[in-house]
Amino acid sequence: MTASAEWTARDASAVWHPFTQHATWTGDRPVVVDRAEGPWLIDVDGRRYLDGVSSLWTTTLGHGHPDINAAITAQLAKLDHSTFLGTTHTPGIELSEALVALAPKGNGPELTKVFYAGDGSSAVEAALKIAYQYSTQTGHPRPKFVRLDQAYHGDTLGAVAVGGHDLFHDAYKPLLLDTIGVASPGDRALGPDRNGQAIAELRAVMRESGDQVCAIIVEPMIQGAAGMLDYDAEFLRAARELADTHGALLIFDEVATGFGRTGRMWAAEHAGVVPDLLTCGKGITGGYLPLSAVLAAEHVYEAFLTRPGDTRPRTFFHGHTYTANPLCCAAALANLRVMGEQDVIGQAARLGERLAKLLEPVGAKDSVVEIRQLGTMIGVEVPPVGARTGFAVCQAARERGVWLRPLGDTVVLMPPLTLGDDETDLLVNALAEALDEVIA
Ligand SMILES: *Cc1c(COP(=O)(O)O)cnc(C)c1O
Repeated sequence: MTASAEWTARDASAVWHPFTQHATWTGDRPVVVDRAEGPWLIDVDGRRYLDGVSSLWTTTLGHGHPDINAAITAQLAKLDHSTFLGTTHTPGIELSEALVALAPKGNGPELTKVFYAGDGSSAVEAALKIAYQYSTQTGHPRPKFVRLDQAYHGDTLGAVAVGGHDLFHDAYKPLLLDTIGVASPGDRALGPDRNGQAIAELRAVMRESGDQVCAIIVEPMIQGAAGMLDYDAEFLRAARELADTHGALLIFDEVATGFGRTGRMWAAEHAGVVPDLLTCGKGITGGYLPLSAVLAAEHVYEAFLTRPGDTRPRTFFHGHTYTANPLCCAAALANLRVMGEQDVIGQAARLGERLAKLLEPVGAKDSVVEIRQLGTMIGVEVPPVGARTGFAVCQAARERGVWLRPLGDTVVLMPPLTLGDDETDLLVNALAEALDEVIA
């Protein structure tokens, strides 16, 4: 019996994994990860796999980066944790300054304040509550959110309420907040004028119900979990304008797209649009530790300052035990420092271009429906030739030393931003061979 098989048996007897069907889990022979270096995962039997999805879209500089390791170790020697409720600390302050300095600029307000949370979902929850409370403290209560079809914003109930992914979200509908869905500008089923249709729907919804809407929330430029549905920047410009016209806030969920993923620091930069609230997570700590944040415009923050004559405090009564944990902040600071010093955004942009070129012949295969890409976020949609075609392609890639995780029948490629040329070749070659094996 291999070490992997032994650990998998123990796993199956005690563990319940996220987004996992346990009836098939053991039979799928999960990789039991023991170590990682750079873009490589190494299992308990010593087999090496290229981490083709950056450990679920988080790893920016590769695993075990010496600078992030050193930053966490140094922080550990000084301060493990101290609450952000009533005290503050230097890594939390420095990271806020760094995020404000990096915030996107353009059509919209300046983002000047940072509110921390723990995961992408909890950043989204905070943003939704901020938006609603903002409406109650600036005009009148606006209890509705506008969301896009196919959207994914996380798994807590507020985040599910603004999601539009039927497979993930349908089961919870009776529990959810009041939201209004709008067609996705990335939905291929709508045909070539999907962007125009989505803008028209958004305009109609805001005309009809705009004064009840506290916020419009979108994943800017590309809906990741929907299968990498990229869309036109024009939609974001229209959303900015419609939010302003009707007094709603605009929320960009950059949990997946932030920190260089799309070849720019923020996806918002592709459109030149700045939201009132921006959520980020995943890549913030380089993929090391759970941390997320909401970047807020000054006018939003100011609405939470108590004024003379107020009958109740305007405080945002929200937070978590581990908000702004210093180890997480130190990892994030090191990640951002390396990103700046080594032009990681430039590296990500070049990696995206190289991948696009290498994927051209793959996209021409009959075994591929469509390849969608923005920077280093790539979805390769395959035709369903069996029950779990996307998964079968990933298993075949795994036999070739590349670990991938699909979204249904879309095979995702989302490597670390600093992936080298040889590993990039391996990633694309393994995918191409896997497609030929499973589908051709
Ligand atoms: C992953 C993701 C989330 C949820 O983040 P978690 O850290 O898994 O809670 C939210 N929004 C988007 C766009 C995401 O891709």
